[in-house]
Amino acid sequence: MSPLSFTHNAFAMRVIFGAGRISELNMEVERLGLSRVIVVCTATKVKTGELLSNLLGSRCCAVYPRAVMHVPHGIVDQACEYVQEEAVDGCVAVGGGSSIGLAKAIALRTKIPILAVPTTYAGSEMTPIWGITTAAGKAIGRHPDVLPRSVLYDPELTLTLPPAASAVSGINALAHAAEALYAPDISPISDAMATEAARLLYTALPTVVGNPVDIASRNTALCGAWLAGACLAITTMSLHHKLCHIIGGAFNLPHAETHAVILPRVLEYNLPASTHAFGALSTALNHPDPVAATYAVISDLGAPQSLRDLGMPKAAVDRVLKEALAKPYANPRTVDETSLGSVLQAAYWGTRNCAFGD
Ligand code: NAD
Repeated sequence: MSPLSFTHNAFAMRVIFGAGRISELNMEVERLGLSRVIVVCTATKVKTGELLSNLLGSRCCAVYPRAVMHVPHGIVDQACEYVQEEAVDGCVAVGGGSSIGLAKAIALRTKIPILAVPTTYAGSEMTPIWGITTAAGKAIGRHPDVLPRSVLYDPELTLTLPPAASAVSGINALAHAAEALYAPDISPISDAMATEAARLLYTALPTVVGNPVDIASRNTALCGAWLAGACLAITTMSLHHKLCHIIGGAFNLPHAETHAVILPRVLEYNLPASTHAFGALSTALNHPDPVAATYAVISDLGAPQSLRDLGMPKAAVDRVLKEALAKPYANPRTVDETSLGSVLQAAYWGTRNCAFGD
């Protein structure tokens, strides 16, 4: 980052953070001037949806438990129709990126505001990025209307997230922080947030997975996820996110698990080209070799190790390679067919990408 030159684009949103603070939900909805909201969640989180509905009392007109992964456009159409017919004036989205993703798609079309209550570490609540899947694939865009007005983080709501899901979701967040550290639009603020996010996540995740009901480590991990999500919002992501987007979209592989497989291999390739990111991650992880530390923590957390284990067909490696080379994007190290092929082969087989380590 020397000499210093940057553009920092801050987003106006309010964050409420702390164990037990879900009790302030109704006050927060009132503050936003809303009187007829729906609680958007997935089918498996209906109980949490009902808990929030009870806290909201007469301000809640329904729990809407129809969010699913990747935001299919048919569900968006139905939800928007419901919002219009029932004169809904806001969405309280509770859950992970899927619930928040449906609320964003509703907000994009109907312009009603969102209050997000995240219960994973995916970070969507901090970004103006929306995604909607049609037969042609997942369309992605940015729009200020989809940025939640308020985000209420209550670590107690994450206690039910199973260890395996917590591990990969935490690595998903770590990936936002890591790529922010070599982003072309890094600023002193994103740099500080990314370094702290990586430190918090790396410190907390082993306890979160080993003792999922430990509220102190849940608190730390969720705080790291918040900062990492804020980095995702204000910096340009690189090779790691590009590969995860292509792989997730084309083969419907699970989002967070794909991040866990790709992250160490991309860092192994990219970090030798970014002295700054290497140093910041060394500091954050308190380890002289942040690549080795990332491989080790992912393995210790029991996260998936290979795209093969996630069910990606071997022939798909070539397709991902071609798509990833087709359109240029920001990356600290030049990528060509040989180097990217090596990253993808390592990710497919679950090996280290030693061919291009430095
Ligand atoms: P998810 O929202 O699909 O959640 C995974 C599962 O965990 C769901 O069944 C959910 O109900 C359950 N769950 C969530 N919180 C729980 C809890 N506390 N206890 C028990 N179960 C819980 O998964 P995700 O990884 O959070 O989000 C992935 C999606 O978010 C992807 O579609 C991805 O593209 C999107 N995403 C978008 C952005 C953005 O900025 N737009 C950022 C990150 C991720």
